[in-house]
Amino acid sequence: MSEPRVIVIIPAAGSGSRFGGDVPKQFRTIGGKPILQHVVERFLFDERVERVIVPVHEMLLSTITPAPGEKIQFVAGGATRQESVTRGLEAAGDVEGVIAVHDAVRPFFSYEVFHAVIDAAREFGAAFPALPLADTIHVVDDNQIVGTPDRSTLVAAQTPQCFRVDVLRDVLSRACDDATDEAGLAAKYGYVVKAVSGDSLNFKITRPEDLVMAERIYAEWGADDSNRSGH
Ligand code: C5P
Repeated sequence: MSEPRVIVIIPAAGSGSRFGGDVPKQFRTIGGKPILQHVVERFLFDERVERVIVPVHEMLLSTITPAPGEKIQFVAGGATRQESVTRGLEAAGDVEGVIAVHDAVRPFFSYEVFHAVIDAAREFGAAFPALPLADTIHVVDDNQIVGTPDRSTLVAAQTPQCFRVDVLRDVLSRACDDATDEAGLAAKYGYVVKAVSGDSLNFKITRPEDLVMAERIYAEWGADDSNRSGH
């Protein structure tokens, strides 16, 4: 493969408050293994991945020691997602090519989509997996509908989102709000951000019922070796 391999940043320093309970959602388990570990291993299986950088809460850093030679690096995250991604990017050092940013709680991303997003980012500068919406979206104010965007123009943004490193550096250095994703920030600062077809299996484990679904999917899907190779 002639293209340089990709560095993946997985911001995992959040407290996961929407999930409830004491354990942040990325450390909940599926099949007895933390969700974050599933995600990291899935990237490490992919030959297009050079290194995985995981910003985690500072307090956890001293408790994690990757084996020597592992392609994984843990760094201290920040107070916001954006800060955590920025620290991950700093840890990447002076690199070229494409950087991927992935939510710590999407264990079922497909290699096919990931690779298509990488290729689109190489060509256009930035890209993300997008899903058409099944639900109609209304804008509400004080519990009343004040607008209904045309659904055919809307997509749900997934990850891995990929960026040429110069684009991600510029976007993060200019951003001053806590964005929910980097693709939106890149578009806000004038970059072309390509939408690539995502898939519904790549959902974000957000609520307790998502974890029940994830256990079911893992029992069927995760145990199948053919789902585990990114080669
Ligand atoms: O809470 P939310 O789902 O929007 O968080 C998105 C991602 O950003 C999660 O993977 C979370 O761990 C990460 N995050 C972080 N540092 C923070 C806040 C969130 O790495 N300070």
